[in-house]
Amino acid sequence: MNEVRSVIIIGSGPAGLTAAVYTARANLQPLLFAGGTWGGQLMLTSDVENYPGFPKGIMGPELMQMMRDQALRFGTTIIDEDVTRVDFSRRPHRVFAGEKEYTAKAIIIATGASSIWLGLPSETRLRGKGVSSCATCDGYFFSGKEVVVVGGGDSALEEANFLTKFCTKVTIVHRRDAFRASKIMQERATKNPKITVIWDTAVEEILGEKNVTGVTLKNLKTNEVTTYRTDGIFVAIGHKPNTDIFRGVIDLDVKGYAVPQENSMTKIPGVFISGDVHDHRYRQAVTAAGMGCQAAIDCERWLEGV
Ligand code: NAP
Repeated sequence: MNEVRSVIIIGSGPAGLTAAVYTARANLQPLLFAGGTWGGQLMLTSDVENYPGFPKGIMGPELMQMMRDQALRFGTTIIDEDVTRVDFSRRPHRVFAGEKEYTAKAIIIATGASSIWLGLPSETRLRGKGVSSCATCDGYFFSGKEVVVVGGGDSALEEANFLTKFCTKVTIVHRRDAFRASKIMQERATKNPKITVIWDTAVEEILGEKNVTGVTLKNLKTNEVTTYRTDGIFVAIGHKPNTDIFRGVIDLDVKGYAVPQENSMTKIPGVFISGDVHDHRYRQAVTAAGMGCQAAIDCERWLEGV
């Protein structure tokens, strides 16, 4: 039988790593599964300007590295693997990474959320060949080129602004006639001379054989279909929670977000949730970190009583 840990944390974004800092400082020697690609969504972002404590801003990956270093400093054990299965039907709770099994009295789920795609076959076929969901990762490849960004939220406008560092022209295609994004992001985008907006429009198809060469656009008010030339397309239309391995195990809402029962604890005693895996309202790094702290404190108090 494996060593039974006090706590296993699943996820390495701001929620998971904050939970690690707190549980480690409470001498609970947490084991954290960081996933094959660690760090969560901030690894795919550029300047983070709204995380308190960084008045000049900080790059997302740098902030995550600092959080990871902080978790390690207090004795967190980190495994850079994905959890593939869980069994919370009896205690200790069991977590599987590949063939290996790990056990703990308590679990903190902090698996976050991932980008949503348009769902077009051409989008899948041309991913990495002009289709991307990460301007920070791929923007450089579009130096001197023209790109389309899909979406009207903060992510889309942030991506569009960032892409103007490399691209000659950035066209935002949005399905409505108003942005959902915050006022400051809207202002930045509309003032940027390299950005143009096509309103009330959906991307129907992404064109190109080996690389993206254009998109088919449909005006949702007039139903007019046109072809628009572009070298790339960045999809920034929101996120879905990473809860597939918890389906049928913990309570999920209709959109798949994890639902707590008491504070941050789920209906399963000793299983806690934190961050974007549960939160579809705020979805900020700072709120995720706060929820990681809450889950860690709830977990620590719960462990005292068992
Ligand atoms: P979001 O706020 O949910 O916005 C998604 C956008 O994509 C919306 O404009 C939506 O259109 C559009 N959309 C959704 N499904 C679509 C589809 N199938 N086809 C075409 N368009 C579609 O998501 P987000 O922009 O990723 O932001 C998520 C959260 O993170 C927000 O709370 C945001 O404030 C935060 N965030 C903050 C920053 C920052 O402060 N620097 C940066 C990024 C994200 P409708 O408007 O018509 O629904």
